[in-house]
Amino acid sequence: MITERTKARLLDGTAVAVRIKQEVTTEVEQMVQASGYRPCLAAVLVGDDPASAVYVRNKIKACEEVGIRSEHHALPESIGTAELLGLVNALNTRDDVDGILTQLPLPRGIDEALIIEAIDPSKDVDGFHPVNAGKLALGRPAFIPCTPAGIIELLDYNRIEIRSTNACVVGRSQIVGRPIAQLLLQRDATVTVCHSRTRDLAAVTREADLLVVAIGRTGMIGREHIKPGAVVIDVGMNKVSEESAVRALFGDAAEKRLEVVAKRGYTLVGDVNPAEAAEVAGMLTPVPGGVGLLTVAMLMKNTLKAAKLHRSQA
Ligand code: NDP
Repeated sequence: MITERTKARLLDGTAVAVRIKQEVTTEVEQMVQASGYRPCLAAVLVGDDPASAVYVRNKIKACEEVGIRSEHHALPESIGTAELLGLVNALNTRDDVDGILTQLPLPRGIDEALIIEAIDPSKDVDGFHPVNAGKLALGRPAFIPCTPAGIIELLDYNRIEIRSTNACVVGRSQIVGRPIAQLLLQRDATVTVCHSRTRDLAAVTREADLLVVAIGRTGMIGREHIKPGAVVIDVGMNKVSEESAVRALFGDAAEKRLEVVAKRGYTLVGDVNPAEAAEVAGMLTPVPGGVGLLTVAMLMKNTLKAAKLHRSQA
């Protein structure tokens, strides 16, 4: 008898993000009760990029949800590296600020690396400082970038085995690809990292039991890249508004997405072709509703961790 192959199980990030935020809320309240101290995140936004403004707004909103105090420092694009460094240094020295995040990308003309390196590593809740990246590479305790940390939480929440799997990470950025590769290695996966110069990408990715994709290329990873039954984590967040593209990417589910496009002007699509992946993969993170939700939740967790660290040293 021929049976139709069941579609990949969707790994919902919502439940995991809610649980992380609940845990943070409880611990923040315990800290307030025990010491009268409430953790604080300082968010620095430079310029008027609308996407960056939305990201910062969502982070501030999440702080409110979990009871973390927040400060929003909005600065004009005309600000120079020196002036921004001055703000970061001032935040570094304040005992009532636990986490500092500078929303990236910073406008051209500002030395991004210099700003990141100026943040006190103990307040680097984004985990981008070279000290934290180095500690992660050495397998030592560190602030871990929020998106990769969220991916591990999602895998653990769903009891997905990492140990001894063949894991493949497509993308080698500082904020996603490299740190998730390190984290998977720490958890005893055999990790392959691919990038734009990888020869015969599909041949490599098809070997993976666990495939993490963070490339910023709409729906590029298709059927031919995925081992049947693999767990596929789609980190990509790309905007698509063309009807033909939406139909090609979503197949039967295109109508719903087209309604979103009609309302918002676009729909969010990952780096994985959702219709094709659903036919081959065993499990798949949806976009939106997968990894994206976890990033902000992990930022809250990192801010609480920084506050605990500072209080234990006070
Ligand atoms: P970057 O642009 O910094 O890095 C992209 C990586 O993908 C690079 O290593 C690049 O290779 C590789 N790459 C590009 N094209 C190809 C290709 N054709 N084949 C193989 N590898 C390729 O991106 P980020 O890591 O910052 O982001 C990746 C995606 O994840 C984006 O869509 C972004 O929006 C999303 N994202 C989502 C987050 C979330 O919260 N869900 C958080 C952060 C990012 P090379 O190094 O050779 O150039």
